[in-house]
Amino acid sequence: MELERESLRLLALAVDQLERGFETLPAIPGDPATPEMERVLTDAAHRLHNNFPYFHPLYAGQMLKPPHPVARAAYAMAMWVNPNNHALDGGKASSAMEREAVAEIAAMFGWKTHLGHLTGGGTMANLEALWVAGRTHPGKTTVASKQAHYTHDRISAVLKQPFQAIAVDALGRMDLEILERQLDQVDIGCVVATLGTTGFGAVDPLPQILKLRDRYNFRLHADCAYGGYFTLAANLEAPARAAYDALTEVDSIVIDPHKHGLQPYGCGCILFRDPAAGSFYKHDSPFTYFSSAEMHLGEISLECSRPGAAAVALWATQRLLPLVREGEFAAGLEASRRAALALATRLSQDPGFALIMLPELDIVVWAVRSASASESSTLAQKVFDAAARRDLHLALIRIPTALFAAVVPDAARNCPEVLCLRSVLMKPEHEAWVPELVSRLRAALDEASAV
Ligand SMILES: *Cc1c(COP(=O)(O)O)cnc(C)c1O
Repeated sequence: MELERESLRLLALAVDQLERGFETLPAIPGDPATPEMERVLTDAAHRLHNNFPYFHPLYAGQMLKPPHPVARAAYAMAMWVNPNNHALDGGKASSAMEREAVAEIAAMFGWKTHLGHLTGGGTMANLEALWVAGRTHPGKTTVASKQAHYTHDRISAVLKQPFQAIAVDALGRMDLEILERQLDQVDIGCVVATLGTTGFGAVDPLPQILKLRDRYNFRLHADCAYGGYFTLAANLEAPARAAYDALTEVDSIVIDPHKHGLQPYGCGCILFRDPAAGSFYKHDSPFTYFSSAEMHLGEISLECSRPGAAAVALWATQRLLPLVREGEFAAGLEASRRAALALATRLSQDPGFALIMLPELDIVVWAVRSASASESSTLAQKVFDAAARRDLHLALIRIPTALFAAVVPDAARNCPEVLCLRSVLMKPEHEAWVPELVSRLRAALDEASAV
């Protein structure tokens, strides 16, 4: 196969155009492209051979894929300037592009007002959300589901804010009865709903959580780091659709453009519905300063220096592929979801495997059928290794044995967790590749089961 490089020609044209903006300046010597530099670069390329092929449909493991070529080219082009979006004088143009791109993301969720900015990733964005929750509801406990990203527990520890995990139901969603019981017993200040858990892509029941907010008056944060863009997809089941539609009502949202937004790493995003959240960042500023029209990125971010190039890449990508329903970008998400459903169907027809749950987004988790939980785990590891030898790269996930027993009821429950296989089908090309993935997976199971 060949790596895409047509965008290199477009990059050169963009750098020409960039140069024209500075043509009145006196000439300076450029950095020489020496033979030593060439050698170092080819050495670096050689080192990068030691990677899984994240760009290829046969990589169907973790949440990894390269950015869109337009994002890669725009990011590289911005590197000739290297703007810093910490403050306006470090990145005038790219700060404006960040504001525009972030406003488009807020509009995708139906938000009419917002305060938000890009971050290094979902972890930093969630940290800002929980930090603000700790300001609006001081001393109170934050809860998230047991399938929520582990970062919430850890961030809460960093912030010295109490944290508790809420059990999930058989579909990996936050259990509402347990949430309600905890609301009665614990002083909960913030509920984190995950729309698209990292493990299963499960979508917490946001409309019902919102009803509880009316009674218990907590802050509601939506961690959509992985799943946020699926709000544009037309092929969600009704519960997931309802959860996404309810996002207009939450207090804050985290979404990771570097996951499903076709961006290079280093691009997360935090959105607050009430621009007054800005007052917590700089306490001597009156909150009226923080209208979305006037916000100054350096004063509403916990991180200081941030890559302006990330904003340029995101802006360019959203120009090419607007965040609208029925658009090309939405079609890509729908294709990923169809790929996951197709794989799930094939797996549920295969006597060797047991689908753990129907995917709500584009993540599929399945077990190897066997007489016991422990043997199933051993076989999952063997299938994983045998698949990798066939260039099919999957992921592994440990799940509670109860979830496994729900689909393999006669297996011995002889260990607390079961190792399962997991596939994130986040590339639209995966749809066409499902038959090939299944045939390699089948061969891997045959090899793993042979004594
Ligand atoms: C990936 C992820 C995070 C962490 O985000 P990073 O960008 O890896 O820092 C948080 N929450 C969810 C649901 C995620 O999928």
